[in-house]
Parts: sequence; structure tokens; C-alpha cells
Amino acid sequence: MIPNNFEYFAPTSIDEAVKLLEKHGDDCKILSGGHSLIPALKLRLAAPAVVLDIGRIKELKQIKIDGNTIRIGANATHSEIANSAELKQHCPLLGETAAQIGDQQVRNRGTLGGSLTHADPAADWPAAMLALNAEIVVRSGKGERVIKAADFFVDIMTSAVQPHEIVTEIRVPKPAQPNAAVYLKVPQSASGYAVVGVAAQLKINNGQCEDVSIGVTGLAPKAFRAKSVEDALRGKALDEGTVSAATAKADADASDAMEDIHASGDYRRHLARVYAKRAVQTAASRA
Ligand SMILES: Cc1cc2nc3c(=O)[nH]c(=O)nc-3n(C[C@H](O)[C@H](O)[C@H](O)COP(=O)(O)OP(=O)(O)OC[C@H]3O[C@@H](n4cnc5c(N)ncnc54)[C@H](O)[C@@H]3O)c2cc1C
Repeated sequence: MIPNNFEYFAPTSIDEAVKLLEKHGDDCKILSGGHSLIPALKLRLAAPAVVLDIGRIKELKQIKIDGNTIRIGANATHSEIANSAELKQHCPLLGETAAQIGDQQVRNRGTLGGSLTHADPAADWPAAMLALNAEIVVRSGKGERVIKAADFFVDIMTSAVQPHEIVTEIRVPKPAQPNAAVYLKVPQSASGYAVVGVAAQLKINNGQCEDVSIGVTGLAPKAFRAKSVEDALRGKALDEGTVSAATAKADADASDAMEDIHASGDYRRHLARVYAKRAVQTAASRA
């Protein structure tokens, strides 16, 4: 189908984009990679009066290490993240997650900011962002707002980003033990989206799990932290019995389990438990 008519703007700076959002925000859609927005426009699921193409804003493309913080521009593509040597060195989980998204064409266009804002419950990034304790930075005419990943995913296809806001940057604390992390998923066979995906980040000290964070996607209407598993692992040695007992709770913090043509709710819960166990064991073996 052909989209409704819309006015098109292509700002070249964040300030310019913010001004346009202030003027048109309620009836305006930001276009980044377009992999989700363009089909929505064509199907007329979205019919905004204004489309704001942020592809020419260079500031939104940056990937840099700033002291103990990794800063990724919202418009960095999955490919740019997967291929960044700096990210491979300081936080390999980012590249590992990016490389599992869709196929090469999807990774060449899809962006981190677009994926997070779209908040697809089967997207891969939310699990990694939760496990990495990331923060999402948004700008509007009122200034800057920093949202913790744990507060960012509100509901199915709903993030905390408001109509007059633009996501500018994703901040990831540099992990203490960069290799002690993993993202594992069961992909849908056609698209690659996660039936269930689990990201785990560990901090191990003298054989004990000093800290752990686990993000789960695909199971529930929104990605979530598996706090019950984390609580059962923190302060313990990661032996088989402890990991099995802890990861048996991987679905305990899910608000609900999704059911669709790809998997039943019960099967998704089962996958979450199996993949949480594999993720913790793999991250521990890499530490
Ligand atoms: C065939 C196919 C396979 C895919 N497979 C996977 C997969 O395996 N795993 C996975 O996780 N994803 C997958 N995706 C999703 C894809 O990788 C993108 O992440 C996703 O489409 C959104 O990113 P985008 O840059 O295309 O955003 P767009 O489509 O441009 O935008 C998406 C939404 O976010 C808003 N938005 C975008 N950028 C900003 C911003 N900076 N500030 C505020 N709002 C913003 C837009 O207004 C829109 O509402 C797949 C997509 C396709 C088409």
C-alpha cells in the first residue's frame, strides 16, 4: 500500500530536530532505519502528518568510550555496533547481540535507538540493555532526560519515549569483566527475532558470583530483568546445583507469557529457563 501524504523534514542537528519536534511532536514520527516505521506507514497503521528523518544528524552516529561510560548514538546501526573494534574490546556483549539481529541487510539499516523506541517484545537489544544496566538519553524542548533501561520498556510496542522527545544516546557502564557476558537466543526462523533471548552479565570474585544481571526478551509483552534468578545467584559459587535451582525461576518475573504462531506461553517459559541456565554457565566459563 501507499502511505498517507506527509510533510518530510531532514534536520542536520539534534537542536534542529528538537525544534521540529516541539512544533509537530503530536503528529510527527521520527524515521531512523525505517525497518519498522516504513511498513507501518505503508499499512497505514501509522499516518503522521510529519516525518522527521534523522539520518543526516552526524552526532547521532557516534560510538565512543568516555571514561567508564560507553556512549552510542541512537542512530548507530546494528552493523556499526557489531563491527566496532572499541566495543569488542570494552563490551563484547554489544557486538554479540548486534550480530544476531535479522540478516546483514537488516543490520545495515536498523538502529539501536529505533529498535529500543519501537519496543518490540521479541527484539534482541532490550535483553542486552537490561543486562548491561544501560541508560537511554532523550532530548526535548524541556531539556535532557535519562531513563534507566529497567524503566524504559513500558508495555508491548511501548517505550518511555514521549511524542516530543528524541532518543539521542545510549549510555552503557563499562563492564568490570567485559568477557563475563553472553547473549543467547532461539530465533524465529524467518525474521530472526527472538522467540526467547537471554542476556547475562556476571562479576565473579574468588569463584563467587559477586554481581549478576539478566535480561529476558521474547517471553513477556515487555523485556524484563530476571530478578529472582539474580537474587538466587548473587554471593554464591556458580556450581551446577546453584545455577539449575536459580535459573528454574527465569520466568518468575515475567508479567505474562506471549502466545503466537511461533510458540506457546508454556514453551516460551521453558525456553527462558533453559537459556538462562546456558547463559549463566557460558558467561561464567568466559569470565
Ligand atoms: C526482516 C526484518 C528482520 C528483523 N529481525 C530482527 C531481529 O532478529 N532482532 C531484532 O531485534 N530486530 C529485528 N528487526 C528490527 C530491526 O532491526 C530494527 O531494529 C527495527 O526495525 C527498528 O529500528 P529502525 O532503525 O528501523 O527504526 P524505525 O523503523 O525508523 O523506527 C521505529 C520506531 O522508533 C521511532 N524512533 C526511531 N528512532 C528514534 C529516535 N532516535 N528517537 C525517538 N524515536 C525514534 C520511530 O518513530 C518509530 O516509531 C527486523 C526487522 C526486519 C524488517
